[in-house]
Amino acid sequence: MGIEPQRHITLIGAGLAGALLATLMARAGWRVEVFEKRGDPRVQGYAGGRSINLALTERGRHALRMADADDAVMRQAVMMRGRMVHALDGRLQLQRYGRDDSEVIWSIHRGDLNITLLDLAERAGAVIQFNRRLESVDFDARIARFVNERDGGVHPVGFTALVGADGAGSSLRGAMQRREDLGERTEFLDHSYKELEIPPAADGGFIMEPNALHIWPRGHYMCIALPNDERTFTVTLFLPNEGDPGFDSVRSGAEAKALFLRDFADAVPLIPRLEQDWDANPTGLLATLYLERWHLRGQAVLLGDAAHAMVPFHGQGMNCAFEDCVALAHHLQSTQDLAKAFAAFEAERKPNALAIQEMALENYVEMRDKVDDTGYLLQRELELSLQQRHPDRFVPHYTMVSFMRIPYAVAQHRSHVQRDLLVRHTAGRDALDGIDWAAVDADVLARLPVLEETAG
Ligand code: FAD
Repeated sequence: MGIEPQRHITLIGAGLAGALLATLMARAGWRVEVFEKRGDPRVQGYAGGRSINLALTERGRHALRMADADDAVMRQAVMMRGRMVHALDGRLQLQRYGRDDSEVIWSIHRGDLNITLLDLAERAGAVIQFNRRLESVDFDARIARFVNERDGGVHPVGFTALVGADGAGSSLRGAMQRREDLGERTEFLDHSYKELEIPPAADGGFIMEPNALHIWPRGHYMCIALPNDERTFTVTLFLPNEGDPGFDSVRSGAEAKALFLRDFADAVPLIPRLEQDWDANPTGLLATLYLERWHLRGQAVLLGDAAHAMVPFHGQGMNCAFEDCVALAHHLQSTQDLAKAFAAFEAERKPNALAIQEMALENYVEMRDKVDDTGYLLQRELELSLQQRHPDRFVPHYTMVSFMRIPYAVAQHRSHVQRDLLVRHTAGRDALDGIDWAAVDADVLARLPVLEETAG
């Protein structure tokens, strides 16, 4: 019996998904080459990019466990038990995400996470070349051309198959699209974001409750803050592009300060460099990217933001990208036929990516507008009761998305049924007293089959 030749894969992008997939594939015995347009963050510092910190949830943690990366990542994570809602008058209310501390989410610094994953990928045997930007692809000759970002030199590299983990602005997607129509459509949100920083307190500790995702909901706009393990918080203000307030009317640091004094007054003393940060930091655009096809036969496939960028309001973009990595690694291991593996990967992940994209858009309205609304709070109360009465059937939306690994599409469908139930049974009430529990229970049993968690 001959020894099987080592299988080979070329990844574009060593961001979050690229570094994790490289680790998974190298550990599975593949020869993995990765090309990243930025410099090595371990040498020259992390060059930023999208949001400074991210919420990591069970789906992402499971994928990290598959690469034995969870322990190293969790050492730098800060627990967030729930939303700490900051009312206009400064009152605070913690709304727990789950039942107890077994159902929490984690704030993680993007740069630290990326570095941890790069180290693991290299340790597993992946070869990562930095400062190499994919420029063009000759699919017939199977040659990808990379530009050296330092000296402008162009390097042709032969490949067996390319994986695009190169983010929302994916160059590989552009090259594939030039070859064959992928059915690409981008819908920009009419809201954008700006990041600011809350430094540590004078004693070096956190200046406000660290174990929460802070949120200042204000109707059609909002501010959030996530803790970092160096005792800072990253604040993100989401505003419409146009309007009052909007990025067209709040143009300078001074105007931003006036907005904060009016609408987020309790945050103002916490952000000493508000005006400077505002002027220095870019305004980030938000969009959802839809593709009809994610792959080009056995030659190239996209994953993560390159395939399905989404708005960040469910904190699932990275978590979903990490699930993609596990799924693609699994399909690549299951067959020698790359075209089959890519098609199976797309068939498994595309409906789920679409579901979380839609849920992320819906969650924006919930976060900025509903978390302090009485009708919403009554629905939450009923939701908690139904969760206790039917723990294996009525599982809150947030739990299904953040603490379980059932497919996103299943979570979305069940959430729609549950929302309908909650709205119907709280309509016209301002409390749960006198509710017809027999009718509610019958409705649950009829419409929500027992929910089985996926194994593995
Ligand atoms: P990226 O992380 O964008 O990595 C792409 C990599 O490819 C980069 O390193 C880039 O330099 C490289 N690259 C790009 N072009 C080329 C090229 N031509 N050649 C070579 N390399 C290239 N997700 C969560 O799960 N939780 C959150 O709380 C969360 N919060 C967010 C907040 C905001 C404001 C935003 C904008 C996003 C948030 N996300 C969150 C989403 C998350 O950031 C993305 O889903 C995640 O970064 C996707 O990972 P990726 O590896 O696909 O892409």
